[in-house]
Amino acid sequence: MKNQEIPFFKPTIEKEEIEEVVNTLKTGWIGQGPKCEQFELNFRNYIGTDYAVSVSSCTAGLHLSLIALGIGRGDEVITTPLTFCSTANAIVHAGATPIFCDIEPKTLTIDPEKIEEKITQKTKAIIPVHLYGYPAEMTKILKIAKKYNLYVVEDAAHAVETVYHNQKIGAIGDTAVFSFYASKNITTGEGGMITTNNEAVAEKLKILRLHGLDKDAWKRYKAGQYKHYECVMPGYKFNMTDIQASLGIWQLKKVEKWRKMRKQIVQTYNELFNTLKEVQCVVRPGEDTPDNVVQAYHLFPIMVKNPHDRDHLLTYLQSNGVGVGVHFKPVHQYTYYQSILKNESYPIAENAGDRLLSLPLFPTLHQEDVKTVFEVVQNFFTSKKQIHLLNSNAQDTVKK
Ligand SMILES: *Cc1c(COP(=O)(O)O)cnc(C)c1O
Repeated sequence: MKNQEIPFFKPTIEKEEIEEVVNTLKTGWIGQGPKCEQFELNFRNYIGTDYAVSVSSCTAGLHLSLIALGIGRGDEVITTPLTFCSTANAIVHAGATPIFCDIEPKTLTIDPEKIEEKITQKTKAIIPVHLYGYPAEMTKILKIAKKYNLYVVEDAAHAVETVYHNQKIGAIGDTAVFSFYASKNITTGEGGMITTNNEAVAEKLKILRLHGLDKDAWKRYKAGQYKHYECVMPGYKFNMTDIQASLGIWQLKKVEKWRKMRKQIVQTYNELFNTLKEVQCVVRPGEDTPDNVVQAYHLFPIMVKNPHDRDHLLTYLQSNGVGVGVHFKPVHQYTYYQSILKNESYPIAENAGDRLLSLPLFPTLHQEDVKTVFEVVQNFFTSKKQIHLLNSNAQDTVKK
């Protein structure tokens, strides 16, 4: 029997978001303008940074951060293999070489103890990823960065709400980049935000995101008299639009409420899965307090004890109407990265990558659905045991 479909993710788009978008459409200013400025102001107030620069995606923001920091051809940037491919792609886009560094088995974030052995004369930056909204070990990473004079660009795609040692993610490295992709904690459909406390970097990012122009269209329009613009560098087309920002302004107001709702769901999942020995939870609400960490609870991955079960379980869940994902297949295992790397191996990331699968998690997911998801996983293991028993009984019969 197929259950009612339980999607992997469903964005929460409410009346306020819809009205704001309609209102923006009616004003006639739908490109980058006052709504983007408003969203940036609200975002930097929320994070507590001096600057926030809206962009078209987190990928674009990572790429722009590297360009703004002067990183390019001939440079190396260290990052984790257990991330979305776009973290490494952005390094390639900037013209630099991604250097992978294995992860720490408990938090699955980049292992600071292994970073130093990856540093060469060419190393310019480290990109830690706050995976699933759990902060990477920033104190140790910053110490290494300082020692070797490296920049730190944080991939904060999962980490809008994350706090590390009493400090919000966004103000720790040189820049932090957030994602508002459709399935992230807050969404603008597509979109991203770069936060920084460095004024010169913020100015450069603003110019780079819009063709390299010294004045954006909204500022020229607002000025009243005609203003010529100057193209001061070959920039990109990486700006956000006011339609997207209209969503973001309201999504941001609800970010903490939704985090609490997801935390509740994660708690229920943890209680249920603690009774199932074949899998292990990766995101644990009990880890919110040590060292003053606040997790963003972006995803709910579990790890199967036996990697052979993983793909069967993915198929089983999907065919029983439960949406699933894998976060992530380690980036160095993808065809393109295989082609540029020299048979490199990152055993801890590979082990995790073979055993991880993510279950539905979004604020409006019902508690009964959480229970159903658990039961489907449980049924998979029970039926597996039965099949195993049947097979061994059949063999016994043959023997007799
Ligand atoms: C989603 C994601 C990105 C990319 O975000 P976009 O806004 O879609 O470009 C980057 N890194 C991680 C870890 C992500 O999950």
